[in-house]
Amino acid sequence: MAKETVYVDPTTGEQIPMKDGKPCRVCVDFKTWSKIGTGKKPAAAAATATATTDKSNEPSTATATQSGTAPSDTMATKTGIKFDEEWKRNNCPADVKTLGRHTWTLLHTMAAYYPEKPEKKQQESMKTFFESFSEHYPCWFCKNDFKKDMAENPIDVTSRETLSEWLCRRHNKVNEKLGKKQFDCSKVFERWMTGPAN
Ligand code: FAD
Repeated sequence: MAKETVYVDPTTGEQIPMKDGKPCRVCVDFKTWSKIGTGKKPAAAAATATATTDKSNEPSTATATQSGTAPSDTMATKTGIKFDEEWKRNNCPADVKTLGRHTWTLLHTMAAYYPEKPEKKQQESMKTFFESFSEHYPCWFCKNDFKKDMAENPIDVTSRETLSEWLCRRHNKVNEKLGKKQFDCSKVFERWMTGPAN
């Protein structure tokens, strides 16, 4: 069983979420993670990957950095593009912000496209999905708070409207915790389905 703890930096007082004695990668932002490191910093990891890249897999254009192959220094010189930064941005494992942003995109989009009048089976499977989600979300303290919030505010799968509203409120709870602005939940469909009216 993974051991989850919080390390408090004695000089700065900063709280660093840990998992099995190491800083929890998906629980902190990239900057913090780079700073605290784990003996092998992301920059070093990227450099290693670059050095061991099979040349036959070398991307042939600048946009090929989207692929999983780390570009070589030769390519960087040829095109003048800072591959290291670009490559890292596209290939590094998710930090708490990237994971969060993409997860909210999936969740709100799922809610926006949920049926207006779902059948019983659809309601049950959506409920099961969120139960599993709150069990497996990889940032452990995010997950624990979300689970607690779900227990206090049970999911409402009655319709697209109720589910989207419920999720918007859950997201706002996290926004509040992080000191971010509250989102206007009446705009949830405009944001996640229709786009702004011209
Ligand atoms: P995000 O909050 O990721 O939002 C993305 C977009 O969603 C915004 O640009 C906006 O257009 C829209 N949006 C914002 N609020 C709402 C809303 N209420 N309803 C609908 N749309 C909205 N990070 C932590 O540091 N600590 C935590 O405890 C934590 N818990 C999390 C729990 C869950 C379940 C998830 C999915 C993420 C959690 N995160 C947590 C990550 C955090 O919520 C953000 O995703 C992250 O900080 C990046 O924020 P962002 O500013 O890019 O916008």
